[in-house]
Amino acid sequence: MTSALTAEAMPLARVPFFAALTVIIAAASGRLILLRIRSEKRSFSATSGSILLIVATVPLPWAIICTALGVFASKIFIRQPMKVIFNVGKDTVGAAAAGSVAFLAGIRPGMELEAAPSLPRLVLALIAAALAYAIVDDLLGSTVMSLATRMPWRQAIRHNRDVVIRIRGVNIVLALLTVLIIGRQELLVLTMVPTVLALQLATKNKIRQRADQEAWRRLAGTTDQLNVTDLTTVLHAAVTLAPELFSADEAEIELRDVDLPRLIRGSAGRLRYEGTVAAAPARNDWTIGADLEGPSGPIGALRLRFRKPVKLNESEQYKLQTFASSLSTAIGNARAYAELQRINAENAYAATHDPLTGLANRRELLDQADRFFGRRAPDGMFAMLLIDLNHFKEVNDTLGHSAGDDVLREVARRLESAARQGDLVARLGGDEFAVLLTGLPAPAVATHRASDLLATLERTIEVDGMQLTIEAAGGIALAPGSGGVQELMRRADVAMYEAKRGGRRTAIYAHARDTADVGRLVLGGELSRAVTRREFMVDFQPIVDLASGEVVSAEALARWHHPEHGDLTPMQFLETVERSGQLPAFAAAVLEESLTALSTWREAGFDLPVAVNVSPRSLLDPTFPATVLDRLGAHGVPADRLVLELAETLTLSQLEVVDRTLHELRDAGVKLALDDFGTGVSSLSVLSRMPVHQLKIDREFVVQVETSTEAAAVVRSTVDLARSLHLIVVADGVESEPQRHALWELGCLTGQGHLFARPMRAGRLLATLQRGSGGRPGFLAGPLHKSGSVVRMAHRRNPRSSLPHLPA
Ligand code: C2E
Ligand code: CA
Repeated sequence: MTSALTAEAMPLARVPFFAALTVIIAAASGRLILLRIRSEKRSFSATSGSILLIVATVPLPWAIICTALGVFASKIFIRQPMKVIFNVGKDTVGAAAAGSVAFLAGIRPGMELEAAPSLPRLVLALIAAALAYAIVDDLLGSTVMSLATRMPWRQAIRHNRDVVIRIRGVNIVLALLTVLIIGRQELLVLTMVPTVLALQLATKNKIRQRADQEAWRRLAGTTDQLNVTDLTTVLHAAVTLAPELFSADEAEIELRDVDLPRLIRGSAGRLRYEGTVAAAPARNDWTIGADLEGPSGPIGALRLRFRKPVKLNESEQYKLQTFASSLSTAIGNARAYAELQRINAENAYAATHDPLTGLANRRELLDQADRFFGRRAPDGMFAMLLIDLNHFKEVNDTLGHSAGDDVLREVARRLESAARQGDLVARLGGDEFAVLLTGLPAPAVATHRASDLLATLERTIEVDGMQLTIEAAGGIALAPGSGGVQELMRRADVAMYEAKRGGRRTAIYAHARDTADVGRLVLGGELSRAVTRREFMVDFQPIVDLASGEVVSAEALARWHHPEHGDLTPMQFLETVERSGQLPAFAAAVLEESLTALSTWREAGFDLPVAVNVSPRSLLDPTFPATVLDRLGAHGVPADRLVLELAETLTLSQLEVVDRTLHELRDAGVKLALDDFGTGVSSLSVLSRMPVHQLKIDREFVVQVETSTEAAAVVRSTVDLARSLHLIVVADGVESEPQRHALWELGCLTGQGHLFARPMRAGRLLATLQRGSGGRPGFLAGPLHKSGSVVRMAHRRNPRSSLPHLPA
């Protein structure tokens, strides 16, 4: 053993040989194969072969010295002392281990050249020595690799195991051959230099190729994981996977193309920070970055952070670029997906909601109602309440659309807050709303709840500083046994018009009343034809002096002579006409016919004024007075022969444009009458603003005048009011003699109704007038009192005003 450990002096003749061995060591452990893939920073070398050669041919101490010198010479160019020390140390220890094992196996070369030992012994010893070197090399090498790359030690050991084992095998063969060769000629040892270099190159290529493949495979695997639709998941995956992929300490992504630049930072497998850029903890390390590009320019940056300075080689840079562009694509995709989701959600919302009020729209209402029909046993009954605002278009036309929108929003808000949980409030379009009333314990509850809902609309709404009163009518229909949603809606619609017609807050659908509404909805499209083909006709109902029975004027009542449906009454088509753009044409047609009839009667000797009904909406038309006066002029009819009957609506009476229109007409001499007097919510306040000449008492009071004290009281007070304002009172719908009598006694001196005549065409009225009653042309009834009889003028304070007034 002593001879193994003490370095004998070297004979001069052997110096070239020892020097050659040192050169071989240097060549073999050169940096040729240092792999620059960050995660695989480990050199593979032919060092083991040259060390085997040395331990087989020179005494152990010299073997160690030559190894140390050779490795040192090869590493001297690395300017990192720690690495030099480590490599020299590792290979020196390796050589010592290999040499010791060979020595034990009986290979004990001396300073002189000796004959090679027997081949089996040589082979055995070389294998044992190679094993010893491998153990040292693996232990130290893998430990350092695992420390440097954070790769687990076991994994480091297994890393490229097959290549390493193959290299080691080749090294043993190489060493064996070289030992055999130098047995013939010592300096042939130098042939090992090119062999070693060739081996180096071959291995280098092999490993580089494999490392490259491996790195790309991992890159592909990692980028695959970025392939998700959620942006946050993409960013988290990227910052937690990139550190491992590039052996970085941390990775971070900064997104700058958003309002609040965002930073996400992670280390291998762990998220470190997520938030604004400004609030991110400062880092003071080495970074390598790559830009993230979106379809329309830069969106931010990906940065790798290292504790120590690093420089990426070309291939690594290329991989970083590839990773960054995959990340950009993934971010772009996730954003596009989120946008798509948002648009889808928006579309879904828009498809089921009304944009102005945020309420459900018609489609959603029908869908929901349909679902109720589908339910086997819904708890309680359900009903549809259809609500239509009266005269809403006037608000829109006069105060502007934004005021109209305000009203609609307020209506929506009130309905929503008054609806019960489980009810669905919807806007069907325009001024039409609907509430699906659910969970009704009994049919009567529907009316009750509908009434509550409508009551909330009656409080005044303030728009642009004006207090507006919204009148609305509600139609209720309970879910029918058959016909489904369509039938439910139709019934609610019928009920709503019923309510409207009756001037009531709500009406519930009743099969008995669901009759002649032939296509109130389908008729809309036929209006223009009706105007051009003059399908609108006018009937006239005479207005009579109640006492004498003499005709004092006539009211024009429009009819639609429909080619299929026959004569339609205003109730069946007026609403549609008012909603369409055909109102001015319709009104003009009625006025024209009325003035024509008036002229005809006048020529025949009956100078009767004619009363024409005017839609509230016509009063909003600033050109209306001029049109009326123009037609009067064209027919040569004095303005005071025309009476315009106006429906009383509180909404209208508050609008300035209406005031102007009425004053203009009145100033020109046209007479104005307030129709349906007594039915409105606040007739008196309307009266105080509208400059009218007549009041027409609604039929509702007339029919009960001799049976109901309340009705009689209304007629009385109307008459009193009229007298003090010097207005004429006309009773509408007089059907019987007792009514005629009672009205006259209450002070109402004129009236119209079936008692005297039904509305009829102008020609027939003329004939009726000419024929007269009791031989008196121009009379339709006998006098109320036989001449000479005692007239009881009850309740009359001012007998003079009892004298019959002609309405003109
Ligand atoms: P209105 O102004 O109250 O007209 C009186 C209505 O009562 C008429 O119905 C008339 O036929 C009916 N009537 C008359 N006497 C009696 C009676 O003794 N008993 C009963 N039960 N009814 C009687 P009509 O013709 O169906 O008109 C309905 C409404 O349509 C009118 O109510 C009026 O407001 C409106 N209207 C009629 N013609 C026009 C028009 O040319 N333009 C406008 N804007 N509205 C019109
Ligand atoms: Ca009327």
